[in-house]
Amino acid sequence: MTAARQRLAILGSTGSIGTSTLDVVARHPERFEVVGLSAQQRVAELFAQCLRFRPRVAVLPDEARAQELRARLAAAGVATEVRVGAQALVELAAADEVDSVMAAIVGAAGLAPCLAAARAGKRLLLANKEALVVGGALFMRAVHEGGATLLPIDSEHSAIFQCLPEDRRSWRTRIAHIVLTASGGPFRDRDPDSLHGVTPAEAVAHPNWVMGRKISVDSATMMNKALEVIEARWLFDLAPEDIRVVIHPQSIIHSMVVCRDGSVLAQLGTPDMKVPIAYGLAYPERIESGAERLDFTTLKDLSFQAPDARRFPGLQLAWDALRAPEGTTAVLNAANEEAVAAFLAGTIAFTAIHSVNARTLDRLPPDLPASATLDDLLALDRRARDTARQVMTEIAA
Ligand code: NAD
Ligand code: MG
Repeated sequence: MTAARQRLAILGSTGSIGTSTLDVVARHPERFEVVGLSAQQRVAELFAQCLRFRPRVAVLPDEARAQELRARLAAAGVATEVRVGAQALVELAAADEVDSVMAAIVGAAGLAPCLAAARAGKRLLLANKEALVVGGALFMRAVHEGGATLLPIDSEHSAIFQCLPEDRRSWRTRIAHIVLTASGGPFRDRDPDSLHGVTPAEAVAHPNWVMGRKISVDSATMMNKALEVIEARWLFDLAPEDIRVVIHPQSIIHSMVVCRDGSVLAQLGTPDMKVPIAYGLAYPERIESGAERLDFTTLKDLSFQAPDARRFPGLQLAWDALRAPEGTTAVLNAANEEAVAAFLAGTIAFTAIHSVNARTLDRLPPDLPASATLDDLLALDRRARDTARQVMTEIAA
């Protein structure tokens, strides 16, 4: 008898992580069945994915795009049902016919479906780090209460997950701290005084990874690493001071666990997200990912340096926000999403991203009630976005 296939929903299937996930899935048709896909804008890509993977459901944000997809699907004789809006995403994430959810939406927009998947006890493959940065304790409670299996997809967190002992309760007694590696992005060696005028095209040109535009800008500011420090705090239940960051320009070591006895465990591989994606999809098994293998005979340097606080002032905000009242990380995330969008739209300078984040944090100390709900967090997220936009108009004036 063959084992039942894993039924997978991919939220954000047209993005960088979404398409890499479908690449891995396509190699293993006997293991995975794609039952749901979702996209925000790219109807043509979503249609091509429906044609190939024949999901039961596809979700788009508005009726106009949904009609376009329905017309194309009907003409091609594909039976995928097209649903519309944020509630449809939440329903897909929690649907009975779904075993696993790949959360590959970018930004806080992914929080509600992630929570729904967690509460419904799914295998939750989490790429959408912003959802955990905003959701924090509420997110982790939903995972535990729902009996979900939370599998990190972010390469650093997958690395830590792979290096930690199986018996999760013993972490604290065995490990001294973890070290997240960071490439340093395209401006790793740039004179900080020259960063003011960099363009969106320069900022998204990452040396090692091909990714969506938002995370690429975050890598250039190192806000991506700040979000990952916060993500690690929740995923692995670590104190902020036990999460450290080192720049490793080659992106070969994806992160490390430093044990009490001084032993260091690292996970290595070529910089290709298909590796952590395949690990999450098959966990605890291992399957072919399609990534190039690491060739140690051609590997030259593995180098390391401390992040320069003048070049990357945003990094420190992670620890500051984690030590501040609950909700501060949600404010930081919202400010950063707004600032990055404004930078990509050409309305603020690259270096203003940090000013917006720092000033928004100063102006909006969160006042969440104990045991904040999703609605409380979303309301705080909206207020933080308003504050960030206000800060940006002042910066422009
Ligand atoms: P992307 O921009 O390439 O794709 C984002 C996907 O989400 C697209 O399918 C888009 O249609 C959808 N989407 C965007 N806004 C949405 C909204 N408001 N509502 C619903 N759907 C929406 O981004 P990406 O690079 O694939 O990153 C996705 C997530 O994975 C991010 O949180 C990112 O930080 C994380 N991540 C990405 C990488 C990478 O290599 N790309 C690595 C680690 C973590
Ligand atoms: Mg990462």
